[in-house]
Amino acid sequence: MECRSECGACCTATSISSPIPGMPQGKPAGVPCVQLLPDMRCAIFASPERPAVCAGFLPEASVCGQSRADALRIIGWLESETLAVAST
Ligand code: SF4
Ligand code: SF4
Repeated sequence: MECRSECGACCTATSISSPIPGMPQGKPAGVPCVQLLPDMRCAIFASPERPAVCAGFLPEASVCGQSRADALRIIGWLESETLAVAST
């Protein structure tokens, strides 16, 4: 699928452990990335400082769903499941 314009759910719902300019410790799940612009584009999309994990996150219907709200819910659930697995 094509990445939805003005979505940015993956830049909010995911946790990122690698440094992001402005967020040197990365970011927790559910917190919007400081590089996320008001129109939900990435301010450092073409920069080498953009975390590799961001470039590796590809839009997929099973994760992105039909809407931003869908994606926030699905990615949030995946994050909580990952944490649950990591803590067992
Ligand atoms: S959640 Fe999916 S559709 Fe939304 S911005 Fe991320 S990759 Fe694009
Ligand atoms: S660096 Fe860009 S692509 Fe990565 S989470 Fe932040 S806004 Fe999204």
